[in-house]
Amino acid sequence: MFKPPEYLSPSSIGLFRDCPQKFKFSHIDKIKEPPAWHLYLGSFVHEVLEYLYKEDAQNRSHETLKKIAADRWTNHGWADKVEALEVKPGTLADFKRAAFESMINLWELEDPTQTEIDGMEVEVLASVAGVAMKGYIDRFIFADDGTIVISDYKTGKIPNPRFKSDDDKYFQLLCYALMLEDAEQEVTSRVEFLYLTQKVKHNQIVTPEKLDVAREVIVKTRKEIEEACDSEKFKCNVTTLCDWCHYKKINICPAHMD
Ligand code: SF4
Repeated sequence: MFKPPEYLSPSSIGLFRDCPQKFKFSHIDKIKEPPAWHLYLGSFVHEVLEYLYKEDAQNRSHETLKKIAADRWTNHGWADKVEALEVKPGTLADFKRAAFESMINLWELEDPTQTEIDGMEVEVLASVAGVAMKGYIDRFIFADDGTIVISDYKTGKIPNPRFKSDDDKYFQLLCYALMLEDAEQEVTSRVEFLYLTQKVKHNQIVTPEKLDVAREVIVKTRKEIEEACDSEKFKCNVTTLCDWCHYKKINICPAHMD
């Protein structure tokens, strides 16, 4: 019998829904996937934009962005971390160029000198319908009516609607809306993604019905994780995405054992 994790996060729930076996490797066996270029790219961009918004509004310029990016890159370990990646699809200059192009596109989506962020990288602990949840919210803003708008930067591609429904796409942000409701009694009115590479914002109005669906998924997933831990049976969800799965590459996934 395995011990289920004390807390679930929106991303761990997503992982279990994608493939229970992958969730087991990551969250029960604690076999972590090695860092990847695209994940580092997203983290670096998030970090630089977080520091940009810590500057006074009138200082939020391209020049300031460049200075922050150079400082984080050189003095806060990014150059070494990216250099140490096992698989690098480009040079360090390519990484910096891709990151900078994404960051600079922020100005196409909002005017940073006119935007005030009320919370960035905020840790939230909450109980959603009795399920203990923990996670970090990228950023949120209080709208004029006192409700919250939760947003997330994306450096990857916009998901193809043929493979990812809107419910799946916004699930993580709706989880955060539920968590903020429990932890802070705050009401979220809108959730949005800032797709930096494509220079486009996608957003969704939050309704009680959408929150109900997300809440049901959280409760259902917790129950399924506990059942899988009790029975020690985690289903392998074999799809074409397995070809990108680390656990297949290191030959420990039961669905792909030689
Ligand atoms: S290879 Fe496929 S089935 Fe195996 S853990 Fe990864 S995603 Fe799941």
